[in-house]
Amino acid sequence: MRFEISKVLDAIEGRVCTDPSLARAVVDLAEVIRWQDLDGGRPASLLRLGMVIDALSRQVEEDSVPVYAIVHRALLSDADLTSNERMVVRRWADDGLVEVLDQPGDRMLEVADLLGLPVLSRVRFDGLGGRWPWLGQAGRVLAPVPGAGGPVFIAHVGGGQTPASGSRSPAGAKLLARQWRCPEPGCALFGGGGGGGAFADLARVDRAPAGQPPPTLRNGVPSCPRHGARLGDAGPRPRTAVLAVRIGGLVRRRFVLTETQPVLVGRAPDATGGVVLGQWLNDEARRWISRSHVRFELRVGEVIVTDTSTNGSGVRPGGSMAEPDRIPLAPQQSRVLGDGDLVELYPGVQIGRADEVTSDAKFSPTSVMAEAPTMAMRLPRA
Ligand SMILES: [Zn+2]
Repeated sequence: MRFEISKVLDAIEGRVCTDPSLARAVVDLAEVIRWQDLDGGRPASLLRLGMVIDALSRQVEEDSVPVYAIVHRALLSDADLTSNERMVVRRWADDGLVEVLDQPGDRMLEVADLLGLPVLSRVRFDGLGGRWPWLGQAGRVLAPVPGAGGPVFIAHVGGGQTPASGSRSPAGAKLLARQWRCPEPGCALFGGGGGGGAFADLARVDRAPAGQPPPTLRNGVPSCPRHGARLGDAGPRPRTAVLAVRIGGLVRRRFVLTETQPVLVGRAPDATGGVVLGQWLNDEARRWISRSHVRFELRVGEVIVTDTSTNGSGVRPGGSMAEPDRIPLAPQQSRVLGDGDLVELYPGVQIGRADEVTSDAKFSPTSVMAEAPTMAMRLPRA
């Protein structure tokens, strides 16, 4: 049992991040872990974060959907959590996967404002609509409540049932155009260099500086939300492109491409930050797709794909699924991705810009709560 729980916590770890390009909703962890009615269990449980993330996945019809978690520092020593859970949250804090604050205040709303993300909370935020006008928009604040197959979302504020993202606020766009440095040594949010490690590759792809969280504004001054210190401007933030992998009609995960770090995608690429597809492929697809099948690079804002496989791949121009339109990409061949283009590694396995790739089939996302961390799926036969 203990082993299973730690596997689930590892799976949840892959779904928390402070990367502005990948996070899909904001939560206050101190609130989420106490939603006892979700499972009728202990007063506080970190597994409830997994339940909420699963619900978000179902709602947006994508797998591997990460959330931006604000964590009150008191949580790191909260006696209602197990010692294992406290240790896990501390690890997330040390790795900058979550934002730990002495006084969270309305940081959750600030992050939602700067990044244009929905808030998952049961708080009604009365009287705050003047400061944050988007609170009244449908889908921007949803309350996870118990439902038949896990949590469902209802609106206490603003209406709607489906989480809706807005655009980054003007302040957010300005802050996220620069990279920032905290004077506090070893700052997990605005220090130099990113975390490394075998777990949570999703969050750690380009953790820094392209994946830096948004600073907090204190009297208009960009500051470290953790340390309160004024942040130094460390120059323009590297350009990024967000790509998405669709397998069998379902978006399985997104990843960030920067100009300094190409990303390898395949059955099981060796490189750090590589995107591993193996767990979603059936036997035929696993045989066809190379360990490292394609390489993506970002150059002067253009996404370039290079085939690194044994069997080759193809490009679907403008996303066209008509067979005559498919452009073969032979091993070692490169191509600039045009608008709407999809790279196809194997029938049903496609990669493109995240805003141009959507799920187009009914599905149940692989649960982060599942006993097995991953499930093999059957691809439609060509
Ligand atoms: Zn700091």
